[in-house]
Amino acid sequence: MKKIALVGCTGNIGKQTAEVVRANRESFSFSALVCGKDRAGLSALAEEFRPRLALCAAEAEKADLFSDCDVALIAAGGFAGLSYTLRAIRAGKKVALANKESLVCGGELVMREAEKYGAEIVPVDSEHSALFQALSCRRDTPFSRLVLTASGGPFLHKTAEELKHVTAADALRHPTWSMGAKITVDSATLLNKGYEVIEAKWLYGADFSQISAVVHPESIVHSLVYFADGAAIAQLGYPDMRLPIQFALTYPERLPCCPQLDLERIGALHFERLPAEKFPCFTLALAAGKEGGTAPAVLNGAGEEAVRAFLAGGISFPQIAETIEDALSRIPRGEADSYETLVRADKLARETAKQRLYGV
Ligand code: MG
Repeated sequence: MKKIALVGCTGNIGKQTAEVVRANRESFSFSALVCGKDRAGLSALAEEFRPRLALCAAEAEKADLFSDCDVALIAAGGFAGLSYTLRAIRAGKKVALANKESLVCGGELVMREAEKYGAEIVPVDSEHSALFQALSCRRDTPFSRLVLTASGGPFLHKTAEELKHVTAADALRHPTWSMGAKITVDSATLLNKGYEVIEAKWLYGADFSQISAVVHPESIVHSLVYFADGAAIAQLGYPDMRLPIQFALTYPERLPCCPQLDLERIGALHFERLPAEKFPCFTLALAAGKEGGTAPAVLNGAGEEAVRAFLAGGISFPQIAETIEDALSRIPRGEADSYETLVRADKLARETAKQRLYGV
């Protein structure tokens, strides 16, 4: 029986984690459940799963969340997830990581602390789980390239002119995956794919020159690893997050989870070049990742504010990238040597973005 501390229990990944646990009650239980603000959702889960702790984020700050768990599944959204990731690492736990910002903003710190405290980080994101599986769950397996697949989001074939007029409702209609609002918009701007390149760098010790992304509209091939001899190993499956969530909890073992692929029904699979020139968020994320230090935290802080404004109908789709670019052009960067430094960079980025977005 594995005890799971789940942070972000009422979000999209949290709910699917609950489904996985519900389907495998003899293998998993929850030791702690933490939500953002959805108290009603938290109560319902607490009633069903009876964890030792069930808390909202505001109450979770000083609580002992991780001491009695086997795995900490961090599915909180945004920069706020980083503090939980660091706490779980410092408790020496296996961390199933679904929060992207932890590695995007704090990759250097997170990997250093994980090494220091002997905490293992296992990816939950479908692409990184696919890479992990293709590497036979061994991060020291030598590879030559990592190729992330991207559905391309709902706007892949729109022209630059059309992109000026798309709305939040358009952006929320993702073709293959059902996800939370922030990440669905990040998929439409391809900021999300830029984030996944940065995460791959930290998770697999890859150089940026070894990581690329390719558009694969069917979302059946979840990513590929290329090896020195020309072999490529991929993981395939229907787009269903329950599989990577469950695998992060059980690996190297596998339990029944999702329906098996019906290849004859699926038919053709397609791949095409990712049109980075139409999606500046992707290029901005890569540049910030390559620069390192506090640059990705600035990018992310400004991005979180810009997406909030876009979802509220306050700015156009291209203005998301413009807000991020503006913050990056105005905020000086430094080393990302501590959590406090990252918090300062995040705060400054938000203030700068809000100044531009709302004039406050
Ligand atoms: Mg992904």
